[in-house]
Amino acid sequence: MNKEIPVSVPFTTGVHQLAPQTFAYLQGSCATGFGNAGLVHSGEEALLVDTLFSLGQTRQMLSAIAEAVPTADICWVVNTHHDGDHWWGNQLVGDAMIVSSIAAARAMRHAGPETTSPLLAPDADPRLRRHLEPFDFSGITPTYPTITFNGELELTVGQRIVRLIEAGPAHTVGDVIVHVPDARVVYAGDLLMFGTHGVIHSGPVDNCIRACDTILELDPEFVVPGHGPVGGKQEVVQVRDYLEQVKAHATAAHQQGKSPLEAAREFDFSRFADFENAERLVLNIGAVHRELNGDGTPGPLQCLHHMVELEESLKAEVTA
Ligand SMILES: [Zn+2]
Repeated sequence: MNKEIPVSVPFTTGVHQLAPQTFAYLQGSCATGFGNAGLVHSGEEALLVDTLFSLGQTRQMLSAIAEAVPTADICWVVNTHHDGDHWWGNQLVGDAMIVSSIAAARAMRHAGPETTSPLLAPDADPRLRRHLEPFDFSGITPTYPTITFNGELELTVGQRIVRLIEAGPAHTVGDVIVHVPDARVVYAGDLLMFGTHGVIHSGPVDNCIRACDTILELDPEFVVPGHGPVGGKQEVVQVRDYLEQVKAHATAAHQQGKSPLEAAREFDFSRFADFENAERLVLNIGAVHRELNGDGTPGPLQCLHHMVELEESLKAEVTA
């Protein structure tokens, strides 16, 4: 490895070089809606991994990229999955080929900015609304992938190879891992979040665990998660351990007839005490219970309300 490349990447807003012509764009926050992106550059071509939640955030990223890598012409965009914080800025790179898995592209058709309306409505629960209030979703025209695939796809960017590996359904139905072999860099989308509890929207949890194994097998030097600071294999192992503990705990609680909220209150957080957004644990236990029930219960909205309840009781514990 080039000795001039820093081993740890600061978690600050902006473009960070990971390897020659290989970058992460970070937003310096683990809060909802502040996702990471990536850039792979070769010759005059560049591939962007994900756009951001709002046009404002995406514009800011594109101008930071233009300044840091002025010769990068973004010819390719890969959307790692269908959550809005990874593709709602696509129209600003609309001339590029936009690539995602078939499953993610399908899900995008029902995942445009209109899906935020119930949570932003005046009568919505303010505790949920505050997660979305920092963002301006106006002006977004959903701009969908133009190239879709199942399984694996290899792209040539200038002189470089970028491999796309479908790992969903896991975090969502169509998650994609982006692997840059010559740089030993992996962009994981929300299959990984570092320094924070992640979220299992889709599951099964075993696929989330398997995605960690797939990434470890790629032997990366740097792993860019969908949210949180850049890490390496150690951080991937930590997420894997977390998922294993969630699965075991949720399964045992389910056998005892406990709700996701009851189960979350009894979770042993000690190994993951520095993970932010602990209230998301309810969503993950809920996902395992849905899988065990086989009937779609508990529903996502019920889990969101339980999430708010857990958040309040965790806060009460801290202040007690
Ligand atoms: Zn995300």
